[in-house]
Amino acid sequence: MRVIVIGAGLGGLCLAQGLRRAGVDVTVHEKDPGVTARFQGFRIGLAEQGRAALRGCLPEDLYSLVEATLGDMTGPARAVDPWLRPLGEYPMEGATAADRHVLRHILLAGLDGALCFGKELTDYHVRSDGRVEARFTDGTTDTADLLVGADGINSAVRARLAPDVRPHDTGVRFVIGRTPLTDRFAGLVPGFGTRVVDRDVSMLLGLMRFRRPPRGAAAELAPGLALPGTADYLRWAMLLPPGQAPEPGRDGAQQTVLARTEGWHPEVRAVVEAADPDNSTLLSIRVVRPGPRWLLGPVTLLGDAIHATSPSGGNGANTALRDADLLRSLLVDAHAGRRTLPDAVDAYERRMLRYGAEAVEHSLAALGPFLPGPFLPISDSLAPSQP
Ligand SMILES: Cc1cc2nc3c(=O)[nH]c(=O)nc-3n(C[C@H](O)[C@H](O)[C@H](O)COP(=O)(O)OP(=O)(O)OC[C@H]3O[C@@H](n4cnc5c(N)ncnc54)[C@H](O)[C@@H]3O)c2cc1C
Repeated sequence: MRVIVIGAGLGGLCLAQGLRRAGVDVTVHEKDPGVTARFQGFRIGLAEQGRAALRGCLPEDLYSLVEATLGDMTGPARAVDPWLRPLGEYPMEGATAADRHVLRHILLAGLDGALCFGKELTDYHVRSDGRVEARFTDGTTDTADLLVGADGINSAVRARLAPDVRPHDTGVRFVIGRTPLTDRFAGLVPGFGTRVVDRDVSMLLGLMRFRRPPRGAAAELAPGLALPGTADYLRWAMLLPPGQAPEPGRDGAQQTVLARTEGWHPEVRAVVEAADPDNSTLLSIRVVRPGPRWLLGPVTLLGDAIHATSPSGGNGANTALRDADLLRSLLVDAHAGRRTLPDAVDAYERRMLRYGAEAVEHSLAALGPFLPGPFLPISDSLAPSQP
């Protein structure tokens, strides 16, 4: 059995790791020319679900490295007013965070030979023998028994497979940035996280404090693997209601937040002023809600390509990793002759579409008052989620 994965994001790489480990022939095609340094500066709240998926797919040494480079979020979350006066404290269960850039480097480890950069999929064609041929902008093709579109929110695979499913712009803008962590700034986040609440806007502060510095951990746990030398940072984020922010992009991200926080405590503004501009940006919050199922065949979708969530849900990456682990286990069964390939894809899509839809709704609910209009509830046919 041969599998092609389109997109070397968190979901596609996790799947490729798991398939490779099980001896399945897999190739990942990524449109970027390499591991780019474009905006990567966010931490991902990694739930037990995401960690379990990584455990299921990664070799032991790489999973140990994931654990070593997580950050712990412990203690209560607190709310303060713009002058840092306490408004309340909320008990939270302990959680972990991963730096996306570091995690992606770990997921890339050992995939040499199975990973092609600079390959942008334009189209695919299902052949008369049931196999699928992927076509790339450079004129090359690749053929497999299964093509997995893990190509993110603007998925070219989805555009062909399920053309009626399109990204929806909520109108809400999200400014996110990171600032090197100093003792001075660490005091702003004594627990799980701090929410600075103004009348119609709030700012979320959270720490990414690596359990171990990524490079040192890699030197011991996965010698030869070069990880980014990312240092601890404070992640700040602000949701802006529709019409209250300039167009998305890196330029002006800090200025947008500084303008919106005039009169706030100077320490809060100092965090934004001291931010790393390369890792601060303004994003549109767009979602993809899974629609009706397509015809079962040798092409499927994974992650943001079919169920892109709002970052407010903190569940997009966790759900993409869950997809990867579920599809891996079913494909490994097919590889071992315990089920057929169509049966594996069918079982995957049935479950993924249900919990994927639920993940999107959860993330939209977390956007709450910022939404310009009501979103329809998910249909009965897609809920509830199936583990
Ligand atoms: C600011 C922010 C904060 C977030 N915080 C969290 C969080 O706390 N917890 C959480 O669970 N999730 C979070 N998320 C969501 C999470 O980052 C995404 O859900 C996750 O990265 C999706 O993974 P993916 O593999 O599906 O897609 P992606 O990571 O987007 O990867 C898609 C890949 O496909 C490639 N590609 C695209 N088109 C093509 C093509 N035509 N041919 C070949 N390659 C192509 C892209 O270059 C990319 O590398 C956050 C997102 C943002 C923006």
